[in-house]
Amino acid sequence: MSIAKNIEEVKQRVAAAAERSGRKPEDVAILAVSKTVSADRVIEAYEAGIRAFGENKVQEWQDKHVLLPGECAWHIIGRLQSNKVKYLDDSIVLIHSLDRISLLEKLHEEGDKRRIKWNTLVQVNVARDEAKAGLETDEVIDFLKVVKEYPNVRVHGLMTIGAFNAGPAETKGYFRKLREIRDDLQRKGIFPGDTLPHLSMGMSQDYEMAVEEGATIVRVGSVIFGHRN
Ligand SMILES: *Cc1c(COP(=O)(O)O)cnc(C)c1O
Repeated sequence: MSIAKNIEEVKQRVAAAAERSGRKPEDVAILAVSKTVSADRVIEAYEAGIRAFGENKVQEWQDKHVLLPGECAWHIIGRLQSNKVKYLDDSIVLIHSLDRISLLEKLHEEGDKRRIKWNTLVQVNVARDEAKAGLETDEVIDFLKVVKEYPNVRVHGLMTIGAFNAGPAETKGYFRKLREIRDDLQRKGIFPGDTLPHLSMGMSQDYEMAVEEGATIVRVGSVIFGHRN
């Protein structure tokens, strides 16, 4: 299968899942996760119309993003080390993995130096998977209160990764839970004027379920680029 065909299929599946759940297909963004994928294949996706890519390593983003023929929106989706923040620039449109105060402080500090306001999502470890990063569910509200003290960092929503080895029903439950956490925060009015619109959830195995549960961004790699080595 060509990358262009894969993209077409993902778009159709996203649209179908959105319609099934009474949502609009255009309310769900497809983020092509290009980690470990060679630049020429990322360019193939670019030529098929993709303009939003996700990487989990800063070094890989640095090497790759300069090779694309035009401007793209890059997303950092993996654990972000504080000492790598200085390499990021404003082509990073969204950091999905804000998960600790020390990173918040670092982003704020670099933002001050370089006059960048970072757009982020708070990663929540809904599945309580030991191997995964992210705040515990009950830590999110206090974390968001702290975020308000760091005006160079804006939070636009929440992100989660399901659990390795979880079955479909369990995974769907995690996605629903993330939406409920977000809805609860909205009700509590943590950010007046900013309603945490985004839910980044769903990967190649489970993005359709994520859309059914309210994902606004699905992060899909292998269904577009094929299996990673
Ligand atoms: C690798 C990765 C993805 C994409 O995984 P696929 O299964 O290839 O779709 C999504 N989110 C995060 C955080 C990842 O690290």
